[in-house]
Amino acid sequence: MSKHIFNFSAGPAMMPPEVLEQAAAELSDVRGSGMSVMEISHRSDLFGDILAEAESGIRRLMNLPSNYRVLFLQGGATLQFSMVPMNLLAPVDTADYIVTGYWGKKAAKCAVAFGDVKTVYSSEDTGFTTVPEQGEIRVSPNAAYLHYTSNETIDGVEFPYDLDAGLVPVVCDMSSDVLSRSIDIEKYGLIYAGAQKNLGPSGLVLVVIREDLLDRSPRALPDLLTYKVLADNDSMANTPNTWAIYLLGLVCRWLEAKGGPAGIEQVNAEKARVLYEAIDKSDGFYAGRAERNARSRMNVTFALPNAELDAKFVEEAEANGMSGLKGHRAVGGIRASIYNAFPLAGVEHLVDLMSDFARRNG
Ligand code: PMP
Repeated sequence: MSKHIFNFSAGPAMMPPEVLEQAAAELSDVRGSGMSVMEISHRSDLFGDILAEAESGIRRLMNLPSNYRVLFLQGGATLQFSMVPMNLLAPVDTADYIVTGYWGKKAAKCAVAFGDVKTVYSSEDTGFTTVPEQGEIRVSPNAAYLHYTSNETIDGVEFPYDLDAGLVPVVCDMSSDVLSRSIDIEKYGLIYAGAQKNLGPSGLVLVVIREDLLDRSPRALPDLLTYKVLADNDSMANTPNTWAIYLLGLVCRWLEAKGGPAGIEQVNAEKARVLYEAIDKSDGFYAGRAERNARSRMNVTFALPNAELDAKFVEEAEANGMSGLKGHRAVGGIRASIYNAFPLAGVEHLVDLMSDFARRNG
């Protein structure tokens, strides 16, 4: 029996234990084929079934209408920072960006090479602790698209609503909160998400794109950077990450058994409630980073009174079976990442240490 760890890593993050068990059991013999999923051709019928199941899992969980395509790509969410403007932004056009944290800022910076980029909201001056109120954003009427990051993994701020930009297509980096709650899919033109938090292992990025956006490409691009080519080839314009797609399919099945996004949303809300309550009841010993209306349910960021105490807390947590709590180097402090697979029991364990630690060090 391996030692038990509550893994608070921001990503790659913990996988559902049931998925790891099934993958381990099938590692050298997937579905009675006598071969590992890593050893079979991506053009085989067996892999065709595995890919189709992964896609249909995403379609069901996201409630995708038939005019949305599902792509399983590589290059991480970071490549999408460039692929989105390459495919959707002509040099003479403008794209609107909402910048509520580290990743959104990077996305906006990447887009500058491809057209005019207008930052219509930035919370950088106040340290990336807020998101705009619903209806606050004035979208440029002719924008090629509006880009935002639904959950900022490093800063710990999350939009509590689906952004509505009217007729302007909304592009959303959902890397760290995809499938963590129900969304109104029709509000989105394109969603992308690196897999390594809520979907599976790294090396895979999910892109969900409304069909009418496939034909927008304003410039000649290499095939592997062209959404239309990737869609026309069902994500197999070259050899896809077969292993990661297989695991994503298992994660989808696991999530469906938990009641899908609507079911896991309740669990996620409770985990976040318990943790933020511990912060709020600590008389300021633990200072939450995000404003209350922007608090992330996935990445809970807070700080102790000084950096030495932050480090001591992380050390004690490690000694108590809790890993991955050190905040990102860009912001310091503590970050507890509690994605779909993370159990409430782990949050309760952390909260116990928080109250004990504050008593001893406050
Ligand atoms: N966007 C967000 C919100 C992220 O959290 C991350 C990092 N995991 C990225 C983009 C970059 O993802 P990747 O490392 O997969 O390129």
